[in-house]
Amino acid sequence: MIIKPKIRGFICTTAHPEGCKALVKSEIEYVKAQKHSSGPKKVLVIGASMGYGLASRISAAYSYGAATLGVIFDKPASGSRTATSGWYNTAAFEQFAAQDGLYAKTINGDAYSKEIKDKAIEIIKNDLGKVDCVVYSLAAPRRTTADGTMYTSVLKTVGEAYTNKTIDLKNNTVSDITVEPATEDEINATVKVMGGEDWKDWIDALSAAGVLEDNAVTVAYSYIGPDITHPMYADGSIGKAKDHLFATAKEMTAQGKVKAYISVNKALVTQSSAAIPIVPLYISILYKVMKEKGCHEGCIEQMCRLFNEKLYADVPVTDDEGRIRMDDLEMGEEIQSEVHRLWTEISTENLADHADLDGYAEDFRKLFGFGADGVDYDADIDQNVMIPSIG
Ligand code: NAD
Repeated sequence: MIIKPKIRGFICTTAHPEGCKALVKSEIEYVKAQKHSSGPKKVLVIGASMGYGLASRISAAYSYGAATLGVIFDKPASGSRTATSGWYNTAAFEQFAAQDGLYAKTINGDAYSKEIKDKAIEIIKNDLGKVDCVVYSLAAPRRTTADGTMYTSVLKTVGEAYTNKTIDLKNNTVSDITVEPATEDEINATVKVMGGEDWKDWIDALSAAGVLEDNAVTVAYSYIGPDITHPMYADGSIGKAKDHLFATAKEMTAQGKVKAYISVNKALVTQSSAAIPIVPLYISILYKVMKEKGCHEGCIEQMCRLFNEKLYADVPVTDDEGRIRMDDLEMGEEIQSEVHRLWTEISTENLADHADLDGYAEDFRKLFGFGADGVDYDADIDQNVMIPSIG
């Protein structure tokens, strides 16, 4: 079929296999061209099909020749529906890894479930023996626990409502939005979904099964950002979950099964961040400022730098609280004062001058494989693509 983007709000319901493949290839080429530290050899990546998780998988495989086992939650094509872009990304990654002689297998299913944890343990036992690094990069809207209870995460404030500017990407207008405070139950549910409980369940299960190396490292991702986003993010319901994630990292390190790290990453366009009120407007201003100052990075630049310069430096590079700061460039004084100035002035009338709308839109389309160089988007192609290790 000829596949075109079908964008509905902050989601695109189609994905392009050739575009996804070209974008995965360019991320691989980027990592190959960088300087590498010495690093892990057998890596489990939970949430490996898109965004920061996919970039982590590519960085580990192509910096260190690491074998990677990925856990994803994606859909293959069915009838005239395309597969999800995470499916196409993973198919492409496995094909390139095979060509380059790298071990890569993938499990498709709910990472929160015991069944998927058991499956991962079985594959590690059979194929790898043990893993020395576990990346936890889930961004999920809900989680069903073993007793069948379903928890849904919310993107709301805590305490008071918060009003600030937001962008409507359908018609490129800026207006005020008021985000209501989450209830206690909603906060608890968000912590259940996006906090550290499941991360620790993974590490406990891997350790109990004897498939974690003694010196294993695990990393999960967080965000802090500037004051304007705090009520929505760092101090909001998702921030409570991230506080729990950080507390869990400390707890796991103290228990001694792994060295657990939180990496505070840069705000970037991903399927998850597109859904957060206020944040997409901040991201489009941030892109403009960072591109003008020549320090803009995407997921692959961030994760390649995380592995090679911070997590697997001779000694891991952290802030005073023990967190790895991949938001170092984003949070620089020069960047933030300019972002703040533009934020104060921005309106529908000056939006195109004050924000990198084209960059935002381009990155958003690329999440689904659209807009890659060298891909013929008018070509009639097969939407049915196999992930080699899944079939
Ligand atoms: P993403 O939406 O691009 O990727 C999320 C991944 O999780 C996908 O591969 C998806 O398939 C997988 N996933 C979701 N539910 C799953 C399930 N039940 N089982 C298995 N896999 C599942 O998101 P992202 O933005 O890369 O986020 C990854 C992490 O990085 C999150 O913790 C997020 O909070 C954090 N982070 C994101 C940003 C940002 O601006 N995007 C900034 C800092 C930190």
